Amino acid sequence: MTVKIILAGPRGKMGSEAIKMIQQEKNFDLIACIDRKNKDVLPEFPVERVPVYYDAAKCFAEVDADIYVDLTIPEVGFPYTKLALEHKLQAVVGTSGFSEQQIKELTSIANRQKTGCIIAPNFALGAVLMMLFSKMAATYFPDVEIIEKHHDNKVDAPSGTATKTVEMIQQTRESKTQGHPDEYEMIEGARGANDDGIRIHSMRLPGLVAHQEVVFGSKSQLLTIQHDSFHRESFMEGLKLAIEEVQSLETLVYGLENVMDLS
Ligand code: NAP
Repeated sequence: MTVKIILAGPRGKMGSEAIKMIQQEKNFDLIACIDRKNKDVLPEFPVERVPVYYDAAKCFAEVDADIYVDLTIPEVGFPYTKLALEHKLQAVVGTSGFSEQQIKELTSIANRQKTGCIIAPNFALGAVLMMLFSKMAATYFPDVEIIEKHHDNKVDAPSGTATKTVEMIQQTRESKTQGHPDEYEMIEGARGANDDGIRIHSMRLPGLVAHQEVVFGSKSQLLTIQHDSFHRESFMEGLKLAIEEVQSLETLVYGLENVMDLS
């Protein structure tokens, strides 16, 4: 069966990589895009066959699709995903920066509509394993800090992967305050963001793509779990998996590990 896909953010770095992946998959068919600029700016894009909409509501009303893929920015991705679910369109969201409240709201719409939705802070399968290994490690190494490094065009910080890593570590680690009880910052932010006592340090530099180190410290030993995405093609295997798996869901799942075979 052919899976008919609408993609938002086709000119973006993730979006253009997703177009390549969709075109290579014989069961996937890109049938419309949602963008905010003139279609002429889409290089080598089959505009004669795939319409580009500037109005998401019009697109969802007119196009008979199976899946909506969002690779935009949170300010756009949230209302568009909401609208897609309201139209009973299954949604795969790679856009990062949704708040907890927004995810709750999308979950309630997905449940009411009995429509699948996957929000994945990281589509790289290696990054998902990094988070799972971190959850395991935290049982024995509760003192942990995260260093996440991304390209300097990323607008949100810390990354969705870092906050998701904390969420997974919380499943095995008791809340605790780390570092010296009387520590203070000579420059604000020196110790990084504090998420349940876990410090997250966000680096933004040209040359980087998406990288994370989860560093666990204990008596006379250090364990570092590291993942690097060197190119956006590293996210495409996970995006493909999410598009395949969302079709059998009737609710929202947050994180690709929920649909990966980890047995
Ligand atoms: P990007 O190159 O900046 O692409 C974002 C795209 O969204 C741009 O083309 C932007 O268009 C477009 N956009 C903005 N407003 C829009 C609108 N109203 N309608 C349609 N498109 C709109 O960023 P990226 O690196 O591709 O990343 C895209 C998203 O995926 C980000 O949220 C990023 O954090 C996330 N991400 C997720 C993963 C994952 O594995 N889940 C991995 C990498 C990145 P303009 O050029 O006009 O602004």
